[in-house]
Amino acid sequence: AKRAGRNEVKDFDVELKYALLEKIELVKDLRDAIANKEFHLVFQPIVNNVGEIMKFEALIRWQHPTRGLIPPDQFIGYAEESGQIVDIGEWVILEAKMALDKLQSVYGEHIQVSVNVSPIQLSNSQSDRTKLLYDLLTGVYSEGTSGKNGLVVEITENLFMNAEDGTQQHLLNFRKHGVQVALDDFGTGYSSLSYIMNYNIDYLKIDKSFVSKLDEQSPSGALCEGMISMAHSLGILVVAEGVETQEQAALLSKYGCDYLQGYYFSKPQRLEDIIATLRSASIP
Ligand code: C2E
Ligand code: CA
Ligand code: CA
Ligand code: CA
Repeated sequence: AKRAGRNEVKDFDVELKYALLEKIELVKDLRDAIANKEFHLVFQPIVNNVGEIMKFEALIRWQHPTRGLIPPDQFIGYAEESGQIVDIGEWVILEAKMALDKLQSVYGEHIQVSVNVSPIQLSNSQSDRTKLLYDLLTGVYSEGTSGKNGLVVEITENLFMNAEDGTQQHLLNFRKHGVQVALDDFGTGYSSLSYIMNYNIDYLKIDKSFVSKLDEQSPSGALCEGMISMAHSLGILVVAEGVETQEQAALLSKYGCDYLQGYYFSKPQRLEDIIATLRSASIP
């Protein structure tokens, strides 16, 4: 038993070393990724309760020259630690705005595009870059009829947790400039609905871990229903993410959920493919 114990420690050491090397290498490769045009965005539709496409969420992908396609969960964390998320985040907003233009011209002016913004991009340590972030989010765009500029910022609950003083002001400023705010992954963090009352958010996104367990019997149903009715009483609209089945969609609609997003409707796709599909679908 002693031997095995020692081996385990050794294996753990080796694994740790590889993980560290891998991280160092990825962070190094991230440096040139923007210039080498290795990133692209995919877009996933968000539908209303009668199935009409109202919004798209922009999600980043990294086509690595030797490792192939790397999903965001495998590099965003490193990019946050190294600070590279600031450059990447600005690139995402620029791309998303170009896509917004195209999507609005195809689907209509009401279409919105949401982008994930890392808490690092809003932290005090990045205050010199926050100005640029604002310019990117708010500039250029002619205001829509509803005073919305078409962009939605998605932020996670942890932003509220280590809420530096600036957070609330940022959220207010976004909205003043016609940028709506969505609270992402709701229910996975530590914050509660009472927290939300003190912030100005437009949407709450129910995390897919609740949605995936949804069926008539499961307590997830009551939870989702409760989150939806409480959000509504605060004047906040609700998006459910990770909707994979017809049953989940039907239940969420029954509970009054305003928007649905998930593989049941569509996987995230490249902009060209979304527009091409739409064109071919509309040919009689
Ligand atoms: P998220 O913001 O919660 O995004 C939703 C994730 O769920 C996406 O994974 C999406 O592809 C996936 N998804 C959508 N529908 C379904 C479904 O029906 N079932 C299941 N199982 N999954 C579904 P993705 O694209 O791999 O992104 C993972 C996370 O990476 C995102 O989670 C977000 O936190 C982060 N991320 C993605 N793009 C960006 C970005 O541009 N900037 C930053 N800071 N983070 C990003
Ligand atoms: Ca998101
Ligand atoms: Ca989410
Ligand atoms: Ca997430």
